[in-house]
Parts: sequence; C-alpha cells; structure tokens
Amino acid sequence: MKCEELLAMLNEYVDGTVDPAVCEEFEKHMAGCNPCQVVVDNIRKTIRLYKAGRPYELPVAFRDRLHEALRKRWRETHPVSGNQEGGGGTSSR
Ligand SMILES: [Zn+2]
Repeated sequence: MKCEELLAMLNEYVDGTVDPAVCEEFEKHMAGCNPCQVVVDNIRKTIRLYKAGRPYELPVAFRDRLHEALRKRWRETHPVSGNQEGGGGTSSR
C-alpha cells in the first residue's frame, strides 16, 4: 500500500467501515512509514477524545475539518513529487 492509498482510505478507516484485510494493510504500511503512523495516530487520538462523550459517529463538519488537517499534515510529511493538483498557494519558506 502506498501513502496515497492509505490517505484515500483514511475516511473509511476512521469510520470503521474498512475491510479487515485493508486494515491489515494499514498496519503493515504504518509499521514501515513513520509519517503515516504519526498521522493515523493523531486521528485515533482525536476520535478517542470525541468518543469519550458521544456515540461513535463523526459529524460531517468534524470529519471535514479532520480531513483537511490530515491533508495538510500529510503534505508536510510527504514531499510532493510531480503530481500537483489545483492548490493555489505559495508555499516556499
Ligand atoms: Zn506512508
């Protein structure tokens, strides 16, 4: 599994609707990819905090924000190579 694939399936993973087999792939990938590990760990913590008081159902807005934050973080930890889409931000520091 590639980092991109992992990111693409994060939503399902977070929802808990992902296949057990895919889940395994997740674990495998994370075992060898520290950035992804950090990102997923972050989600888990966020969800745990959220779960503490409510049933396991993430509101759309929350998920949206989470996903946004994830992408940002993911981009920071995974240098983009070539494939750039839209965007429109000057990120040179
Ligand atoms: Zn990765």
